[in-house]
Amino acid sequence: MAPPVPTAGLPKEVAAVLRDAVDTGCLERAPAEAIAARLSDPLVRGAVLEAASESRRLGKGDVVTFSRNVFIPLTNLCRDRCSYCTFAKLPGDPAAKTYELDEVRAVVRDAVRLGCTEALLCLGDKPEVAYRPHREWLRERGFASTAEYLVEACRVAFEGGMLPHTNAGVLSQEEMAALRPWNASMGLMLESTSERLRAKGGPHYYAPDKDPKLRIRMHEEAGELGIPFTTGMLLGIGETDAERVDTLLVIRDLSDRHGHLQEAIVQPFHPKGDTPMRDVPALTNEDVAGWVALARLVLGPRMNVQAPPNLAPDALELLLGAGLNDWGGVSPLTIDFINPEAPWPTLRALRERTEAAGVRLRERLPVYPDDVISRPELFDPRIRAALHRFADEAGFARLRAGASQEAA
Ligand code: SF4
Repeated sequence: MAPPVPTAGLPKEVAAVLRDAVDTGCLERAPAEAIAARLSDPLVRGAVLEAASESRRLGKGDVVTFSRNVFIPLTNLCRDRCSYCTFAKLPGDPAAKTYELDEVRAVVRDAVRLGCTEALLCLGDKPEVAYRPHREWLRERGFASTAEYLVEACRVAFEGGMLPHTNAGVLSQEEMAALRPWNASMGLMLESTSERLRAKGGPHYYAPDKDPKLRIRMHEEAGELGIPFTTGMLLGIGETDAERVDTLLVIRDLSDRHGHLQEAIVQPFHPKGDTPMRDVPALTNEDVAGWVALARLVLGPRMNVQAPPNLAPDALELLLGAGLNDWGGVSPLTIDFINPEAPWPTLRALRERTEAAGVRLRERLPVYPDDVISRPELFDPRIRAALHRFADEAGFARLRAGASQEAA
């Protein structure tokens, strides 16, 4: 049994729920909603953070991880138009860009020199469906779809000496199967199970790929293919507390049924000046920490819970005290193209601040050490062999020559 959660001054029913969540390793819907409704109370939030930290300690010990990556936005064309997004560009926009394979090769070469292991291929959703110029661009190069082109880009990144992790929006099962031989892992933010966000006036009205049913289905299909998969929740785009709890419960259910979810990201929305949602206030750091902690308690001690350090640069200590065990990808070479206004901390600063909080920072690959060591069936033989070259005996990343402590 875990040590008790501090209860001084805390309503009895809250203390009991938190104690039970730590002891049983999960938090169910009704108590999670009840806690969420009181999360703005500093006393309740403090106790939730304490309970989540205890849960993290039970499941993950004193280790917090990150992945040294390079971000390759293969194309920033996207058929969707989410109201908070500045990543997606329209054809003809001077900032619209699709990488040639030689450009992918060049970025990978630079990344390998800096000791990076993860090539994050992140791109817009099915742009060829919406834009004839992109269809023609692909056809001139011999590809029928962006997903087909992406397979080639992943091959280039792999053969250049990196482990690809693809996040290309909603993909079919066939497309994921074609990508699997060249990817260590893949991902899709579930974002939210809220159907309301797709209604007229909502942030996903012009984004058919943000239909929660489609995204849940892709998670299931990735599970059927046995692909290590990253998911997550986007906070602050108009969802309610109950919808956030529902999103976490759906993630837990997907993980229980398929066993392939390697990580859940808790990502706060950052308002951007040139978007329809520029005036929507960002969550406070305290709110973000409260939801990281609730995610830990709902998803349990074994799940890897991640929050991006560049989206709460003043609050790394607060997040470390909220039960996360992963900072995600941090790059010494490329910016966060989704949140270009938010620079990465240097790896040196991330290490110093993480370790000052009493935990150890370890570098991982795009997949987590437990999966590298214990779940060889998750990987194509070629990827499995590469993982063993890249990993140390405990499954963490072997430090590569040239590994830099700086960040883009
Ligand atoms: S699907 Fe992704 S890339 Fe496309 S508009 Fe939405 S957030 Fe931007």
